[in-house]
Amino acid sequence: MPELPEVEVVRRGLAAQLRGGTLRRVRVREPRLRWAVPEGLDAALAESRLESVGRRGKYLLLRFAQGWLIVHLGMSGSLRFLPGASAGMAGAHDHVDFVFGHGVLRLHDPRRFGAVLWHPAHAGAIECHPLLAGLGVEPFSDRFDAALLHRATRGRRASTKQLLLAGKIVVGVGNIYACESLFRAAIRPSTAAGRIGLARYGRLAACIRETLSEAIERGGSTLRDFVGSGGESGYFQLDCDVYGRAGDACRRCGAIVRVDREHARATYWCAGCQH
Ligand SMILES: [Zn+2]
Repeated sequence: MPELPEVEVVRRGLAAQLRGGTLRRVRVREPRLRWAVPEGLDAALAESRLESVGRRGKYLLLRFAQGWLIVHLGMSGSLRFLPGASAGMAGAHDHVDFVFGHGVLRLHDPRRFGAVLWHPAHAGAIECHPLLAGLGVEPFSDRFDAALLHRATRGRRASTKQLLLAGKIVVGVGNIYACESLFRAAIRPSTAAGRIGLARYGRLAACIRETLSEAIERGGSTLRDFVGSGGESGYFQLDCDVYGRAGDACRRCGAIVRVDREHARATYWCAGCQH
């Protein structure tokens, strides 16, 4: 599943290739994605200039004067920009084409858990869209810091890792990033979130930013044509300290890296380093 770093790399690629471009038409071959692609997109957006490309969580926000296109890659979606007049034949699972003056942006999504939605400007600020309003803060925003993590977790018995994954406090910390960030911050994943103090949360916030930044850097250097990869890979090739290393020696202390499996999610951690 594309995670926040991948979506951010896609966003940067889209911005570089498409910002300021004119959308000529929208061609929907298969509207049955996670939610139906709204009818009338073509009429609403034909000959409109793309003003900016934003992101909130894993939602891409394509801003036009009339409103926002919201695009989500779901489990297996990818976007590919095909420059030039001829985009070639659409293949299986190529569900939507956004035809720009200088090329075609094509949404490919075999499992169809992705989404293309429309939020007209007259409906109000994009932040208030029902899919976005309940999201936690962005990990790179000024609002994400020790005080926020501390405040949001007082009295919470859920594990620190569980609260990170839930996305209500901060978005974008998927399983691998939670495992790696908690290792770097020396916090045991199962520790009740309410028991972690302000200073440790300060360290965790910094480690989350660092881990996500590294993934974005790696993604930016390996991606071509800013295709948002889908399929099973899910994550950029992060140089992991604990994730996927169960049974190996911890690089920091030499203890054996452990794995706990719960709800089909594996938590990797080191009992020597994380307390
Ligand atoms: Zn260790």
